Amino acid sequence: MLVVNGPVDDAGHEESGHPERPDRLSAALAGVADLHLGDDLVEVEVRSATRAQLARVHETSYLDELGAFCYEGGGDIDQDTYATFDSWRIAQSAAGAGLAVIDELRRRGDGVGFVAARPPGHHATRDRAMGFCLLNNVAVAAAELTASGERVLIVDWDVHHGNGTQSIFWNDPHVLYVSTHQWPLFPGSGGAREIGGFDALGRTINIPLPAGATGDVIERAYEEIAAPVVADFSPTWTLVSAGFDAHREDPMADLALSSGDFAALARSVARTPASPGRLALFLEGGYDLAALRESVTATLAATLGVERHDEERTSGGPGADEVQRCASERAIALRIAHESLQ
Ligand SMILES: [Zn+2]
Repeated sequence: MLVVNGPVDDAGHEESGHPERPDRLSAALAGVADLHLGDDLVEVEVRSATRAQLARVHETSYLDELGAFCYEGGGDIDQDTYATFDSWRIAQSAAGAGLAVIDELRRRGDGVGFVAARPPGHHATRDRAMGFCLLNNVAVAAAELTASGERVLIVDWDVHHGNGTQSIFWNDPHVLYVSTHQWPLFPGSGGAREIGGFDALGRTINIPLPAGATGDVIERAYEEIAAPVVADFSPTWTLVSAGFDAHREDPMADLALSSGDFAALARSVARTPASPGRLALFLEGGYDLAALRESVTATLAATLGVERHDEERTSGGPGADEVQRCASERAIALRIAHESLQ
């Protein structure tokens, strides 16, 4: 069973020529429709995230500033990131969409969640919009869960490092953040030595990969570096920052994944939760509409165990050496941090 949020009217969050555009959400929803789930598709009504829910991960001064900026008509926040008059309302709905999907999964104790909303969130920090992101949707959901005692794994396979999510949970031992991303690339953070703050050492895992890296490299990296830590952490929930801009057709970056690779990653991740109904995927990036649509279908089919002939998985790209180096840099950083604590 797939639980998806009902429609979020995102038409007002658009800037002419900007790649983060309403067509993306249409493509992702077309990818859901392509699954032909019938009664196995549940749509839940979206309410805006409340100020209290947003304030778990954002400074209230930032929420006030962003709201006022939009109310005054919006504009460019930085070189990449825009907001319009409608963006505050739409961003609150996008954050609320994640909460609605989580609520429904909890009520049912079954199913897989997909949060089809925009703007995306993983670059938004406590006090700053950046990288097309205004409010950190996945972080708002994770904080809602940890507030009721859950241990949350966040897997971020968007091609960009989720600097916002990492910084929000940097010192929080109840969240394990795992990111695979192209490096060097925007936003520039996400080195292997970034392992979490002193209260959460090891709870941040970064796996930077070179341009051209293929699915086999990313999957091996996940299995070798992340999987043992995930097993030790023993999450009670898994949230995925599911960007699809690591696809080889994507115009924003140069990793070389196929939709079949996302399906394989999704299968690995779906094996993690302790019990059913505790996995939700959040749309982040993905800017080639056809690749986005196909990747959403392949990924969700994999999490649902639906048989499907996926696009071939990819292999043979560079990155194996970087993964080894990443593992040893991480080990050194952990050792130094532990020694300095003694
Ligand atoms: Zn991205």
